[in-house]
This record gives sequence, structure tokens and C-alpha cells, in this order.
Amino acid sequence: TVRELAELLRVPPNVVMAELLKRGVLATINQTVPSEVALQVAEALGFLAEIKKEEEETLEEEIPDHWEKLPRPPIVVVMGHVDHGKTTLLDTIRKTNVAEREKGGITQHIGASVVQLPDGRKITFLDTPGHEAFTSLRARGAQITDIAVLVVAADDGVMPQTVEAINHARAFNVPIIVAVNKIDKPGADPQRVRRELSELGLIPEEWGGDTIFVDVSAKTGQNVETLLEYILLLAEILELKARVEGPAKGTVIESKLDKQRGPVATLIVQEGTLKVGDPVVAGTTYGKIRAMFDDKGRKLNSAGPSTPVEVLGFEELPMAGDTFIVVEDEKKARQIAEIRKQKKEQQEKLSRGLMLEDVFKKIEEGELNELRLILKTDTIGSLEALKKALTELSTPEVSVRILHGAVGGITENDVMLAKASQAIIIGFNTRPDLKAKEAAEREKVDIKLYSIIYEAIEDVKNALRGLLKPVQ
Ligand code: GDP
Repeated sequence: TVRELAELLRVPPNVVMAELLKRGVLATINQTVPSEVALQVAEALGFLAEIKKEEEETLEEEIPDHWEKLPRPPIVVVMGHVDHGKTTLLDTIRKTNVAEREKGGITQHIGASVVQLPDGRKITFLDTPGHEAFTSLRARGAQITDIAVLVVAADDGVMPQTVEAINHARAFNVPIIVAVNKIDKPGADPQRVRRELSELGLIPEEWGGDTIFVDVSAKTGQNVETLLEYILLLAEILELKARVEGPAKGTVIESKLDKQRGPVATLIVQEGTLKVGDPVVAGTTYGKIRAMFDDKGRKLNSAGPSTPVEVLGFEELPMAGDTFIVVEDEKKARQIAEIRKQKKEQQEKLSRGLMLEDVFKKIEEGELNELRLILKTDTIGSLEALKKALTELSTPEVSVRILHGAVGGITENDVMLAKASQAIIIGFNTRPDLKAKEAAEREKVDIKLYSIIYEAIEDVKNALRGLLKPVQ
């Protein structure tokens, strides 16, 4: 881009733009410049330049796209308020798994598991319930979840983490299926759950909306198979597809160092087929797949789309959220890992979350057309007042969107959501706990604290107009 070129040449962007104009190229700061022209500009400004083809950029191009895309199993996360039955539901689902029972496999914890219905159709579940895992993977750029199952206990109804879960799923456009749980309990009131969720915009199909609700008991197993059917139905509607042939790529969802086996990582294959012996790059590390196991601990030689596998053979630990890709040979894998390492170091110097002070600059440069905020306040009253006032600050150029608003302290979850969605956190008469503070520093997320509503509104208003004084 013009900006990058200007930074490389250490001149203001308008100097580069002027040089471009001389060569008949009209480009704004964020537009990319053909490399030939960039070369000329660099030379005009007294630099010797050459075009270096980056290994990594050619990677994707090398995968031929003549392979057919076929339906693949959905990848599902279970979310909901604490004690509403997420863990029990996942356990029951794994037990209803007929195919597994027949083969007598014992579930291993590798971070995800595959459930197979009697007719052979499969669903992949992420093992860690809750939106935290999903959001922190997302914060590292991984897009793996297709569907979120929202568990709401029928004897308890919508609770704060229910709302949080909905907002996290919505922030990433992940469709929600509601599992109204604990219907075996005497005090269960599934209709109340429907009413409460309708108020939050999740309207049951039977009421004319488009959200699937299934009444279940995770404890007795009642209707759990129906829930699985609906998940597969939604998957069909979403037309989830992937190519089966060709080199694999996907995401790392867990990794650990094993004393005997060295780095162990769980990968979810998203495209292609992963095979033992494949040279692979993940994040800034690389390796060769030495051995591969499924979620039942069985040895595998190959794994297709939506399959979670535990693999051995990485040189170093990849990170959860890293993407992986299979390449021609180990030498290439090492080279790409090196390039990525260097890039990452550069980026780490530059990258930080969105700061309120930078908002105007980003709007001007056309990088921002939606200011996303997470609001945490001391009372419902102040929450509603702030929500309304802040949303009303939207201009034709930039709309203000409240991604998540709730009463209570600022948590690590809020920070991870902010990081994943480039949002700013606003706290009113509330503060971050220690973990949230640490996370915000680590992830460079902006948290603004206020005790006067007017000041919060003024700051956001000024940020949108470019009147906020930058902090050094
Ligand atoms: P999580 O925190 O959402 O993972 O919730 P758990 O799965 O740990 O469940 C919390 C409690 O609710 C446990 O004591 C479960 O036995 C109980 N529970 C979960 N599902 C049901 C259900 O369908 N019916 C009844 N009666 N109890 C349930």
C-alpha cells in the first residue's frame, strides 16, 4: 500500500502519492501500488529497490482449485451460563454416540470430539464449553466454529452469561441453536426461556422467528438426539462444504508439551486431507506429521475436513488459534516458518488494539466505518442511558455499535471480545479485575473508565470528530 511504501522509504505518504501521480497512478493511502511502479517510486526517491517474491504469498496460489467441494461436518461450540448444563450436555452427546459405543472407543481429551449418528453423519464438537475458548481462538484470527448451541436451563432462564454468549456469537455471525435444558426438573418452564430469549431477538421458529429451540434434558438424554438432528439440519442449510483432496489446511486448537512425545498439538482440518508424513507449517513453527490420533485415541493415517486430530512432529509448540498448512517439503516449511517469525516480530511492534484516540484517523483513512464498543456499568439505568446516548452518536460515515453491554466489572472475556472484534471497552463506575487488566495490557486493548456519563459521551463524540487529544 501507499502507506507501507511511505514507511519503508521514510517519507510522508503524500510524497509517495505525488511520485505516483507523476507516473499516472492515482492512489489513496490504503490502496496497493503495482510493484513495478513502487520500484520506480523508490528509485526516484533515491533507493535501490528490488522485488522479492515472498514464499508465503505463493502458497495459496499453488493449491489448484479444480477440486470439488463436498459437504463437511459442522464444527459446533456449546455455550451458556454456568451450571446450565453445558458439560453434562457434551458428555451425554458423546454417550449417545452409537458408532462409538459399538467400537468401544474411549473418549480422550484432545480439545474436540466427533459424534457420529447411526446413519453415518458426523458433528464435531469443541470440547471446551463456553464462549471464552471460542472468543480467544477468534482473537487469534481463527475461524472454526460454524454453529453455537446455547444452553439455557429451563428452571433458571436467561442469565448474564447467556446474554454474553449471545453477544459473542453475534459479534462473529455464528448462528445459534437454543437447547432449553433441564426440562426434567419440576420447576422447568421452557416457555419462559422462549419469552426471555425473544426479547433478546432470538425468536423461536414456532413463533414465526428463525431460531431453532429444542427442549432437552442433558441428564436423562431426552431429546438430545433431536438436538443433533437440528444441528445437522442447520448445517445443511448453511451448505458447509470443503475440498477433500489436496494439501490440508486448518487451525490449531490446543497444544501442549509432552515429556515423552515432545510438542503435541490438536489440529482441526478445514480443507483437504492431512496425512502422516506431511510437512506442515503452523504459525511460526513447522514440522513433519510423525503420528496422528483421533479423539478416541486411535491411530490415523489421514484426516479429512472437520476432523480434529492430535499430531506429533512439530519442532516447537504451535499456538492455539494458529492456522496450519501442508507444504511440499520440510525445507520449504522451515523457510515459511522463518518468514512468518520475522513478520510476526515486526507486526508485534506495530499491532495494538483500536485506541479511542486513533478512531478519527482510521475513519479519515477509510479503515473504520463502525465503532464497536463494549459497555460495562454499575447499574441497568446507566447501561441503558449510555447505550442510547452512544448509539445516537452514529454519523453517516461511522456507526456506533454496542457489541456487548452488561452490568458488572470488566472481565478477561470482555477484553478478548474487544481484541477479537477491534472494539473499545467503556466502563462506567466499574473497573477491570486483575486478569482483565493483565489481558488488556498484553493484548493492547483500550479500556476507558468513567464516573460521569456526560464525559464518556463527550469522549466518544470527540473521538468521532477527531477532537480527542492523543495520549503519548
Ligand atoms: P455447566 O457449568 O454449564 O457445564 O453445567 P454442568 O453440566 O456442570 O451442570 C450443572 C449441574 O446441573 C450439574 O449438577 C448437573 O448434573 C445438572 N444438570 C445438567 N443438566 C441437567 C438436566 O438436564 N437435568 C437436571 N435435573 N440436572 C441437570
